[in-house]
Amino acid sequence: MSTEKQLMVSAIKDGTVIDHIPAENLFKVIKILHLDTCTNQITFGTNLESKRLGFKAIVKISDKFFEEEETNKIALIAPHAKLNIIKNYEVIEKREVYIPDNLIGICKCANPKCVTNVENVKTKFIVEDKKNLSLRCHYCEKLTEKEQIVVIA
Ligand SMILES: [Zn+2]
Repeated sequence: MSTEKQLMVSAIKDGTVIDHIPAENLFKVIKILHLDTCTNQITFGTNLESKRLGFKAIVKISDKFFEEEETNKIALIAPHAKLNIIKNYEVIEKREVYIPDNLIGICKCANPKCVTNVENVKTKFIVEDKKNLSLRCHYCEKLTEKEQIVVIA
């Protein structure tokens, strides 16, 4: 077992470990999952070397188990994220994240005139292209492309 693997799984008894987060998006992931206001024990490591991502981050949340719907939201900014669900120090489930069909309140509409940018209306997108990340706004019908995505969650 590598030291990286040990770091990943040894520290929590029950909870969720989210691995393979691009280091630069760690705090966005924390925001999307509302971990900034969560009272559970959370530890994270960032700028860890990763063959795949260059530098990655890991978050460990004790006594917290997410619904798939919740964790899929992070697929936008951490498409290679892997979740390890831990019970009694054992990984009982491994889960990947998938871009959802709809995104509600996660990111901004690229159209400055959109009602969601002018009034206090939650953004809502239909994901048109999951591979290249192209989001169709439910309100103004304009497309927000991958490079325009701004996370607001
Ligand atoms: Zn819009």
